[in-house]
Amino acid sequence: MYPSYPQYAPPPPPVPYRSSRLGLKIALGLLVIVALLCGATDSALFLAVRTGTDAAFVDGDRPLADLLSRRAAAVAGHDEAAFLADVDPGDPRLVDRQRTEYRNLLALGLSSFTLTLTRAHDYDVSDADLVRRYGGALREVGVTVRYAVAGLDTVPDAEPWIPTFALVHGRWLLVAEEGAGSGTKFPFGVGGQPWEARPVAVVKSAHVVAVVSKEDQEIAPHLLDLAERGVVNAAKVRPDGWPDKVLMTAVSDQKVFDSYFAGSADKLAQVEAVTIPRYSDVAEWDGGAKYTLSRVVFNPNTLGRGDQELQHTLTHEFTHVAFGPQTSDATPVWLVEGMAEYVAFGSEKASDAFVSQAANHVSGSTLPADHSFYDSADNYLLGWLACRLIAQKYGQPKLLALYDWFKDHNDEDGGFRAVLGTTRSAFLSAWRNYLRTLRAG
Ligand SMILES: [Zn+2]
Repeated sequence: MYPSYPQYAPPPPPVPYRSSRLGLKIALGLLVIVALLCGATDSALFLAVRTGTDAAFVDGDRPLADLLSRRAAAVAGHDEAAFLADVDPGDPRLVDRQRTEYRNLLALGLSSFTLTLTRAHDYDVSDADLVRRYGGALREVGVTVRYAVAGLDTVPDAEPWIPTFALVHGRWLLVAEEGAGSGTKFPFGVGGQPWEARPVAVVKSAHVVAVVSKEDQEIAPHLLDLAERGVVNAAKVRPDGWPDKVLMTAVSDQKVFDSYFAGSADKLAQVEAVTIPRYSDVAEWDGGAKYTLSRVVFNPNTLGRGDQELQHTLTHEFTHVAFGPQTSDATPVWLVEGMAEYVAFGSEKASDAFVSQAANHVSGSTLPADHSFYDSADNYLLGWLACRLIAQKYGQPKLLALYDWFKDHNDEDGGFRAVLGTTRSAFLSAWRNYLRTLRAG
C-alpha cells in the first residue's frame, strides 16, 4: 500500500533540502515560532531517501577497514592512546579535537559502537589544504557509525561519518573529518553527533539521557526534570509501542544543531528543536534502511527560554519520538504536528480562553497540505484544533487509531471513513463549525 521505507516522510517533502547524484531528497520540516500564543514549538524532521547501488569494496580498502576496527575497539576498550594512535600527530589541533571526541564518546556510556566502511570510493578530496599537505595519497570515505547508549537504546542506530585519511610514511592516518556545512553530497546530519561537540557532560534520569556542554552543567538537572516530565506527558497518551526513553542532545555548540539545517540556514533561528528519525543504516547509502528510533536535538538558543516554553517544546518533541514507530510517509503532516501539539497543550490543560484565542489567531478553512505545512506556524494550531475536535467528538483512542491507520494506508478520506465513520469533507465541515464556535467563545 505504501513503501515500507522511508518512515516519517511526508509526500512531497515540505522543503527541498538536499539532493545528490544519488537522487536523494531530504526535507526538513520547520517550525516557525507561534509567537502570539506561546512561542513554543519545534520542528519535525522528515527524510525521504532512496539510494543507488552499493560501492565496491576492494582489497585496497583493507587498511582503512582495519583502522576503523581499531578505533571502534579503542572506544569499547577505553583506550585513549589506541584511539589517538591513528590520528596524524603532525596536526595538534586535530589531535585535540579527536581527544575530545574520544572523551565525549566515553561520557555517553555506550553499550555498542561500531564503524563500517560503507562508501569507500564515493568521495574525492577537494580540500586544497589537505592536498597540499599530504599530496595525492588521500582517501575521503563514508563510514557508518552504529551506536547504542547503555540503558537507553535496545538497538543501535546508524549515523554517517566522513573522515579523510592520508598515507603518511606508509601508514594511513586520520587527517580530517567533515562537519556541519560540509555540503550536499554527503548524507544528512554529518557533524551532528553529540560526541562531535566541544567537551560534554551526560546526565541521566529514568527516561532521558541528556548531553549538555560541560560549561552548562548547572542547567542540566533542571533541563532533565522538564525532559522527564515531557516523556511522562507523551507516555500518558502513547503508553506503549515505543521504548519511552530518549537521547536528547542540548549542547551549546551551534554547529551540532546546524548540521541538520544545511539547506535552510535562514529558518534555523526559528526552530527550537528537531526530532530526528534514525535508521538501521545510513539511509542515503542503503535503501533497505529501517526506522529504529528517534533522537532529539535542541537549538542552543532555545535553552535560555522560560520553563513553560521549554516544557511545551520537550513534550511536543517527545510526542514525535513516541509516535515515531507508527509514523509513515503517508501520515499527514497536520496529524503528525497536530498530535504533538495536542499532547503538549493537553498536558498544559490549555484554558477555554486560550483555545478560543488560538482559533481566532488562525485563518484557513481547510487542513494544511503537507507541502506547505511548514510555511506558517498557524498550521500547527490548525492541526492541533483538528486533533482536539477528533478527540472530543470521537474519543482520544480514535484519534490515535486514525494516526496509526496511516502506517499501512495512504488515503486520507479512507482513514476518516474506516476509523471515524465519516468522510473527510464531512469532518472538515464539522471542524469549520467548531472553529466558528470557538471564535465566538
Ligand atoms: Zn513537531
